[in-house]
Amino acid sequence: MLKRIAERTNRIGRHLPTSGGLTKTLQRAEGLGCETLQVFVSNPQGWADPVTRPDAAAFATGARELGISPVVVHAKYLINLASPNAEHRDRSVRTLVRELAAAGELGADLIVVHSGSHGGAGEEEGLARLVSSLKRVRELAGSNGRVPELAVENSVGAGTQLCSTFEALEEVSRRAGVGVCVDTAHAFVAGYDLSAPEGAREVAEELREVLGGRISLLHLNDARNGLGSHRDGHRRIGEGQVAEESWTEVFAGLPGVPVVMETPYGTPEVDLEQVRLVKQLAARPPSGCQTRRDEYRI
Ligand SMILES: [Zn+2]
Ligand SMILES: [Zn+2]
Repeated sequence: MLKRIAERTNRIGRHLPTSGGLTKTLQRAEGLGCETLQVFVSNPQGWADPVTRPDAAAFATGARELGISPVVVHAKYLINLASPNAEHRDRSVRTLVRELAAAGELGADLIVVHSGSHGGAGEEEGLARLVSSLKRVRELAGSNGRVPELAVENSVGAGTQLCSTFEALEEVSRRAGVGVCVDTAHAFVAGYDLSAPEGAREVAEELREVLGGRISLLHLNDARNGLGSHRDGHRRIGEGQVAEESWTEVFAGLPGVPVVMETPYGTPEVDLEQVRLVKQLAARPPSGCQTRRDEYRI
């Protein structure tokens, strides 16, 4: 019987550490078969600025040679562009500008930043602050040299966090002229039901309708905590609340959107298997299609 080969349109990769040097990061990405890659350019939990890395230019060239695209940088968690505290907001803007510069040195295409918290000022005011901070970051970053695109990530909606809905993400994206990054674990605990394929198909449809071409990146993570719990926590694909078949629906609904996994590290074998699994899930036909799964391979 004729074997049919499904077309996979989503590029798949993962977040990787840089602590052993950027050359090692690239070797690891290559070993895992990563087509995309995400790194930090500084300690995400502290305010220390990114340091100039002597291996930055070699990393940029190496990633290009390996065909890794996009190269993504995740900005510090401490940044809150929506803070009601002017000093914290200003510090966040300046810090993000420095992270953008460091990301540019790595040849990054995209920098992902959290949407932040309004801190009690209310959602409307928080969104307005986030939008004006993002515009300021772009002004200060200028257009000299290579400046990565900005993407705002959805939150789990804990406390006063902004952008746990696709509508709020769309508003920020439109008003600030930036892209968005959709984290599937965040979306799930914020109330978007990906647990079974039918729900996942609807969520993917909603994503496409509300955000469409604004989606720069998908953070592909399974969720540790329950639907609507607003509690963050990532699990490996297939080990959390989301059925494996759900991911196929997500990919089918978002063709071409690049993917970065931020799942917990395992052994090298486990990490390799995760990348392989996601590539397989992205290559399968969605459940609406009657073709038998085993006729497909990546
Ligand atoms: Zn994030
Ligand atoms: Zn994320």
